[in-house]
Amino acid sequence: MVMTPTSYYPTTNIKTSSWRTSKPVIDYSKCTRCMICWKYCPDVAIDIDENPKYAAPGERFLKMEAPFIDYDHCKGCGICAKECPFDAIEMVREGEDK
Ligand code: SF4
Ligand code: SF4
Repeated sequence: MVMTPTSYYPTTNIKTSSWRTSKPVIDYSKCTRCMICWKYCPDVAIDIDENPKYAAPGERFLKMEAPFIDYDHCKGCGICAKECPFDAIEMVREGEDK
């Protein structure tokens, strides 16, 4: 029998968000694309959109890469919201989307 280390499994296929009670929502009108949220997310659940079409706090940010939440893997820990220096991420209870 060949044993396969669990780290070999394609974890992107496993959705790990089922127990989330609240989720982060980015207010792009405040997001300066500093990517601190991306750096701090312990679940690698923040991705980078290379061709963003979101709002921005100023014209110079409009063409910059922007973060977006991978809700299939975000567990709702809230670290990204706590670490965002521009208060651009709000935790919203599941089912109470804005
Ligand atoms: S930390 Fe806040 S301002 Fe920086 S990229 Fe993330 S959401 Fe945007
Ligand atoms: S709430 Fe936690 S798991 Fe979800 S994106 Fe933010 S830091 Fe990552």
